[in-house]
Amino acid sequence: MLCGPGGVGKGTLARRLESSLPGSHLARSYTTRPRRLGERADAYTFVTEAEFERSREAGAFLEWARFGAYAYGTPRRELSRGDPTILEIAVQGAASVQRLGLASLTIGVVPPSLAELERRMRRRGDDDAHVERRRAIAQREVATMVDLVDHLVVNDRLERAVAEMVALVRG
Ligand code: 5GP
Repeated sequence: MLCGPGGVGKGTLARRLESSLPGSHLARSYTTRPRRLGERADAYTFVTEAEFERSREAGAFLEWARFGAYAYGTPRRELSRGDPTILEIAVQGAASVQRLGLASLTIGVVPPSLAELERRMRRRGDDDAHVERRRAIAQREVATMVDLVDHLVVNDRLERAVAEMVALVRG
């Protein structure tokens, strides 16, 4: 399981980890957030609030959370496919997955600095209010994460970070 604050680059790292580990698959979350401009269509299963609620009530999610106006959830069926599953989850969700005892390895991704995290969020088009709020949350999340994870990986350079994660998983 990969966790870390929003904007840290978990998504990119998780996809790279999936392609570096043949036979594994990256779990796709549900979200009620609209797709961002230029965002991959398969980044999430994009659903309406009503669809999300129906799935949640049916117990379809391993864990779910709300960030601002939007809901996010990891479908349970992602873990029943029989192959090694990569979960990419926000810090708060990672804590609930760990309580369920479902993660064999938890890697926390941290930004080189909070200033860099802010730059990354702005680059992907998040607005000022969103960036401000998320920066404060990120600060708390990094503090929580330290106690939660087996390893911390600094996402300074993509290739280096991917290589470090692959080594951790293989080890
Ligand atoms: P974003 O809207 O930037 O794609 O994601 C917002 C936050 O939701 C990120 O921190 C992301 O990791 C988190 N997130 C994405 N999918 C899930 C999920 O299934 N469960 C939880 N708890 N958080 C998620």
